Amino acid sequence: MKMPQPPRPRSVAIVGTGMAGLTTAHLLHRDPESRYEVTLLEKQDKISLAAESIAIPSRDEKNQQVWADVPMRAFAGGFYHNLIRMYDYLEVAYNAQPFLFSFTRLPRHQEPPSIPSCIPSPQMVYASNFHQFPPAPRTADLVRWAVEAVYAIVCYCWFTICCFFIAPYEEDPKTGRLCESLDEYLRRMWMPRHYVTNYLVPLISSVCTCSHEELLCFPASDVLAYKRRTHRQQHFVVSGGVQSVQEKLLKGINVRLGAQITHVAPDKTGVQIKYSTPDGDTTEKFDLVILAVSPDIAAALYPSLSSQLSTIPTTTVETIAHTDESLITPMLRATSSDPASDKELAVGHVVHATQRIHLFSDGHITEAVHEQPNSILVTTNPIFPPEKSKVIRSAHFTRVLRSPRSRAVINAVFKDRKYDPALAKSASPFPWRNGDHGVFLAGGWCWDGMVLLEGCIVSAMRVANALGVEVPWDEEA
Ligand SMILES: Cc1cc2nc3c(=O)[nH]c(=O)nc-3n(C[C@H](O)[C@H](O)[C@H](O)COP(=O)(O)OP(=O)(O)OC[C@H]3O[C@@H](n4cnc5c(N)ncnc54)[C@H](O)[C@@H]3O)c2cc1C
Repeated sequence: MKMPQPPRPRSVAIVGTGMAGLTTAHLLHRDPESRYEVTLLEKQDKISLAAESIAIPSRDEKNQQVWADVPMRAFAGGFYHNLIRMYDYLEVAYNAQPFLFSFTRLPRHQEPPSIPSCIPSPQMVYASNFHQFPPAPRTADLVRWAVEAVYAIVCYCWFTICCFFIAPYEEDPKTGRLCESLDEYLRRMWMPRHYVTNYLVPLISSVCTCSHEELLCFPASDVLAYKRRTHRQQHFVVSGGVQSVQEKLLKGINVRLGAQITHVAPDKTGVQIKYSTPDGDTTEKFDLVILAVSPDIAAALYPSLSSQLSTIPTTTVETIAHTDESLITPMLRATSSDPASDKELAVGHVVHATQRIHLFSDGHITEAVHEQPNSILVTTNPIFPPEKSKVIRSAHFTRVLRSPRSRAVINAVFKDRKYDPALAKSASPFPWRNGDHGVFLAGGWCWDGMVLLEGCIVSAMRVANALGVEVPWDEEA
């Protein structure tokens, strides 16, 4: 008697090797029923999650290499629920990381000074989670500083109360009104402009790495939810850098580097992709394609998506790793040093020594200079470019922004619906929704929230759920 053949695994192309692409690939590859044969494609010649991270020799006795993550890949309890569960499942070690933020107000659109010593001293220092008493800048007039500190604390308390108790206006499909933007919400709450311009927006725009104007257009709900969920929660970083996450997620997966996808075209028998490699152009057919790329790229690759995804704003962010300490000297001199070393917390996570993040705002953009161990500085959105000879590496990243309109589009695209293979092949379900025609989207932007690593995990889990694959760290499964 002839034994029935097990069905052939479905071929899946995953485009992009950021956190979203790697997590989706990991989940489908480890499907207990082995129903998917995964190929990861990446246009760069290296996996992108840790591509810009810097290996630095460790000063500990084991003399191991340590990694400085560029860009920063920090996360916090409360907000990064799924990321933390995935790290625990992968047995990735992470440690608590307190930060000390200094706020420096610059004259509007200041020309970069030729002598770095003319960078002003900070007007305020803030300790994440109030983990320590924020030191007063030594150069500051103490009375003025105390008045400003009380003002900032009162405004902070009012903002926190608003986040917890006064909801922003939601979208109303009946009237066609979009949800409330951050700017509209802050004005409705009578949040003082001095506080908004000098503290709130610089701090949050350094998380979203965008201009102040762009941030104020975000849906208020994004920022409020982030604040509520991270309130009084620890910040963490992966102890061995995201390099260690990358290695674990990639295990056993077939990867093609240097493969730039140029076109995605579904038909009745699958999804054809065109891509160029150093050896020439290729066309290949897969059963399913997952685009783990930014929305502008997804729209260019798959034109059927362009009318929907073109409403999603993006920007380009420059990050420079360097050793030009002249750019932070005023803050070093101005605040008391923090000699704390790593220590063990009762909750079980090692707490690393406090790291400083210097925020310089000119009213339009905030430059963040993050002091990493071993004297490495990472500047994001540079206003004061470091001296060329001291630059270790510079990189540009696409950052996906949010707006009330793009939020409505994204929520429509990702509205819950079980993946239906029949619909996937049908001629034109309009408007397009995730999974139609065998094409899925994943990425930090593919959820209803700030564009951070948690969105990568949520969107990868959504693809796995749609394809019937169990997510081992999903507590609801
Ligand atoms: C400066 C900065 C700091 C940040 N700090 C934090 C932080 O501290 N915490 C946090 O949670 N988040 C942070 N983020 C956000 C977070 O890093 C991103 O949301 C997340 O990395 C996005 O991952 P992704 O997989 O969606 O996309 P990406 O990482 O952008 O990956 C997309 C991939 O697709 C590839 N690709 C693009 N086009 C093609 C093509 N045509 N063919 C083949 N491959 C292609 C790209 O090369 C890339 O590898 C930061 C972002 C920036 C820019």
